[in-house]
Amino acid sequence: MQPNSTNNTDLSFSSLSLNEHLLAALNKLGFDQPTPVQLQTIPPALAHQDLLVSAETGSGKTAAFLLPALHHLLTIPATHGGTRALVLAPTRELARQIFQQCRQLCEFSDLQTGLVTGGDDFRQQQKTIRNNPDIVIATPGRLLELLEQEVSNLDELEILILDEADRMLDMGFSEEVLAIVEHCNSQRQTLLLSATLVHQGIKKMSERVLTKPEVIALNSRHDEHSHIEQQIVLADDHEHKQKLLAWLLLNETYDKALVFTNTKIQADSLRGPLRGQKLRVGVLHGDMDQKERNRVMALYGQGEINILIATDVAARGLDVKGINLVINFDIPRTGIDYIHRIGRTGRADALGLAIALVKSTEWNLMAGIERFLKQKFKRRTIKEMEGKYKGPKKLKASGKAAGSKNRKEAKKEAVKKTKMRHRDKKNIGKRRVPSNKPATEQAGSE
Ligand code: AMP
Repeated sequence: MQPNSTNNTDLSFSSLSLNEHLLAALNKLGFDQPTPVQLQTIPPALAHQDLLVSAETGSGKTAAFLLPALHHLLTIPATHGGTRALVLAPTRELARQIFQQCRQLCEFSDLQTGLVTGGDDFRQQQKTIRNNPDIVIATPGRLLELLEQEVSNLDELEILILDEADRMLDMGFSEEVLAIVEHCNSQRQTLLLSATLVHQGIKKMSERVLTKPEVIALNSRHDEHSHIEQQIVLADDHEHKQKLLAWLLLNETYDKALVFTNTKIQADSLRGPLRGQKLRVGVLHGDMDQKERNRVMALYGQGEINILIATDVAARGLDVKGINLVINFDIPRTGIDYIHRIGRTGRADALGLAIALVKSTEWNLMAGIERFLKQKFKRRTIKEMEGKYKGPKKLKASGKAAGSKNRKEAKKEAVKKTKMRHRDKKNIGKRRVPSNKPATEQAGSE
């Protein structure tokens, strides 16, 4: 974890006046000092403020929202028998991780924690929620189903936390989240966390769910990830990428590697060739059932496999210790996705390496990401695998290939070319006829 650089003299958790049961759990976890996001979020959250926080995965944000929520549950006696705090997260994996951290933080208290996610047994979850655990961690779809069946209600909810809200919006959960908020006690405290506050939907969502929030903006994109070395390796084509990938996985030094593809099919297709190289590989994507996903995650967590090929959705929020190499086999479609992907490495105090394999058709996408992050990634050549592609001949000021057209221009160009081809075909016919005849006659003679 990044050391704290504020001038505060006492940087311990006890200076934040947290409940002793929580301090004992922090001690056991070995969390000596609050991270910047924890230091900034915990005091206003303890004062029961609504908060809008921009924080990345890897910054310690989970404890930043769990600690004040748990402190509240431990110090303010319950006045009702219902669930008192709810955390919503975009993916099952992230929800599970929050749940695990919550259980660790609750180890020295008797607070009850419940996990409600899609893919797990519905009846079991009905039972879980009927028991009204003090704090519930959930993905929106499944929780809404349970609320609509009136298995439980959130009438008495005291704290609502929306984690990775930008991602929930990107994944199309906006309506579910708002419907859940409708079920919640309007007197609650709400914390909304997002990787970025510059997101179209976040402003709207925060207006709907927060009351006079304090804004805590910790990230300025370009000084983030300074502990992750970012490299670009150019590739000729798909086959070349596969060779580069295998070479990197066989030759780089790492504990665990995470390989990102843009599609599930691509993720599946890489497994065989890598296993053929005797690499210990697993795959994680949204088409796999929950049991299989849990199994792969457990194998990866324990180090039985040390390479995971994943799509964005499946790997969102993934917090596995020891990932020090991230390879973008496909270039992600947005800068935000790129941030999330590389954020899987360099977590806590560790250093990380992120390598992007870029073919010519992806150059502009990569250049756009560099521009978005205000960073220039290191170009790396792998001698043993060097290809022909060396990048565009000329670059625009934006870093994109000069002469490369945007889609509209490219379409216009294609239409023009087709027309020209038609015209040429006609003219070829005409040219075959002796040229001493008039044009009209030529056409008729065909
Ligand atoms: P998060 O951003 O919540 O996903 O946390 C990233 C990692 O940092 C997790 O593995 C946490 O267990 C760890 N962590 C969170 N807070 C601290 C802390 N204060 N000191 C050391 N590690 C921490």
